[in-house]
Amino acid sequence: MVLDNLGSSLRGSLDKLRGKSRLDEDDVQEIVKEIQRSLLSADVDVSLVMDLSDSIKTRALEEEPPGGTSARDHVLKIVYEELVGLIGESTEIPLESQTIMLAGLQGSGKTTTSAKMAWWFSKKGLRPAVIQTDTFRPGAYDQAKQMCERAEVDFYGDPDCDDPVQIARDGLEATADAEVHIVDTAGRHALEDDLIDEIEEIESVVQPDLNMLVLDAAIGQGAKEQAQQFDESIGIGGVVITKLDGTAKGGGALTAVNETDSSIGFLGMGETVQDIERFEPNGFISRLLG
Ligand code: GDP
Repeated sequence: MVLDNLGSSLRGSLDKLRGKSRLDEDDVQEIVKEIQRSLLSADVDVSLVMDLSDSIKTRALEEEPPGGTSARDHVLKIVYEELVGLIGESTEIPLESQTIMLAGLQGSGKTTTSAKMAWWFSKKGLRPAVIQTDTFRPGAYDQAKQMCERAEVDFYGDPDCDDPVQIARDGLEATADAEVHIVDTAGRHALEDDLIDEIEEIESVVQPDLNMLVLDAAIGQGAKEQAQQFDESIGIGGVVITKLDGTAKGGGALTAVNETDSSIGFLGMGETVQDIERFEPNGFISRLLG
């Protein structure tokens, strides 16, 4: 376990424990307070932060550090384990034929993510295709097409058709040679009933193996409602957090993961097709606490 880049005040509190073999209540209280501060400023939901604090407090005071382990390392391990318990491991993405559908708010980064994911699969030796069903946002077609050209992956869209369900159907046929289908959908607010009906219809045509919710790292507390509604309508199996190259830390995504009982699969780290990373809990936790 390595938690690098910890925030300076948390590191300071932990460093005070150097040389100690046991923690007292004040030590734990101080550390938990620092963790709460970091997580809340990273947009993690208040109730999640409180639950987490309680578990960390209880464990840090009740569990004996294994022989030879310093109090500092012991509490750090507990913090890490509790956060991993909350955040989970990366969404499992098998390297085999599959269909993934992307959902989320307009501007969250779905179109960009669809091309990035296709690029990622192509680097893994699979043949991907992006199907662009966003007939709503002007420019979505050209943007997706250009990015897919850059990524050198198959692309299907139809700027002359305004029926996304039809595009999905035609797209699957046109890209039948591809092994991995990534279906981009129009951005919608989870409470727009007609758009929710539409994505459900697309889903019934596409029959994805996995629906991923794309969230802007800056979404904060708004993630909860979106996640609940999308999960209810199509079932969310994984989350993509975009724009993590900015200052937002993406703590809102934890709410989504918690609400949908899913996990984080990919991180968007920039605007070009290569700017995608598989989620990895350690780095993300360090960032949240940093
Ligand atoms: P959509 O409406 O959900 O399809 O969103 P887009 O894919 O069009 O993305 C909206 C804006 O966010 C575009 O300007 C993208 O270039 C930008 N964007 C998407 N992902 C990232 C990312 O990971 N980092 C940064 N910096 N910008 C991103």
